[in-house]
Amino acid sequence: MVDENLIRRFGMCLLVALVALVSVGCAGRRVGQVLERRGQEIVIAGQLVHVGAPVVLWTDPGGYDAYRVEKRFAPWAESDWDDKGKTGPQQPLRYGIRKAGLSETEFEMVRGGGWSIEQLRERVDQFVMHYDVCGTSRTCFRVLHDQRYLSVHFMLDLDGTIYQTLDVKERAWHATISNDRSVGIEIANMGAYSAKEKDPFAQWYAQDEKGTRITIPTRLGDGGIRTPSFVGRPARPEPVVGTIGTRELRQYDLTPQQYASLIKLTAALHKALPKIALDYPRDKSGNLINQQLSKEQWQQFQGVLGHYHVQGDKADPGPAFDWDQVVNGARREVGLPRLK
Ligand SMILES: [Zn+2]
Repeated sequence: MVDENLIRRFGMCLLVALVALVSVGCAGRRVGQVLERRGQEIVIAGQLVHVGAPVVLWTDPGGYDAYRVEKRFAPWAESDWDDKGKTGPQQPLRYGIRKAGLSETEFEMVRGGGWSIEQLRERVDQFVMHYDVCGTSRTCFRVLHDQRYLSVHFMLDLDGTIYQTLDVKERAWHATISNDRSVGIEIANMGAYSAKEKDPFAQWYAQDEKGTRITIPTRLGDGGIRTPSFVGRPARPEPVVGTIGTRELRQYDLTPQQYASLIKLTAALHKALPKIALDYPRDKSGNLINQQLSKEQWQQFQGVLGHYHVQGDKADPGPAFDWDQVVNGARREVGLPRLK
């Protein structure tokens, strides 16, 4: 005969073990435990969003922090934001609040605290492409932050590393009238030039046995590129010629690593903020509009666009920028059909 007490006791033990297992399984986290990031997440309204490409946040070692107000690259004793006697606005901030369209109550909520990702979804509908004319993200941050008192959410370095410098909730200062409604990215690239202009290509590009390689000038050291011994090559070996507005310009293409990361980031932003449509400004026949948008076009446009679409005095991201690769690549990531 089986001892009922024994069965009861065995049952209790089993129950206790199960409860212990489930509670560990559910919580899975202990007080004080350091929660690991994979290094492939961006921050949108305080939430981590997976990108699937290398991301360095402003809080990471080696990151670039646009919330800090002292100059990042000046000697510490001279790094105060208040550079009296020099040019530059005499106030410490490099970014603002996405104010447009907020009621007073909403504004009071977000001005000292934060946005919910749902609130951002309502308002953010453009992703603006820039080239940095600095060549590397480290120099880009020095120019934006230390010299020009400007900001941008993301920088994309030659090796495909994405740097995020502040939360997407902030109104970064990168594209005038689009700042309230956009996310911005500065892509490491030396820019586009007309035949009349002096270009920096001889300094930045050279030929070797494998084709065209990027040669970071020695005054910039290793350029701050995160991948050790990285050799950057433009996706196309010759400069690409094309028209932006009324000007014919020449520009070297981005690196394949930059395209790969930009595709992932564009897809991730679209998933998190769906009003950023996976499309670019196109005319009735479906071709890229290669000039500033009319006011009405700009108002209506939701998606991925260039700085030159926003402002007539700009040419970035230039004629080499491969819109189809970026936007169709992002569409493939999220399971949408190709454009056209
Ligand atoms: Zn720009």
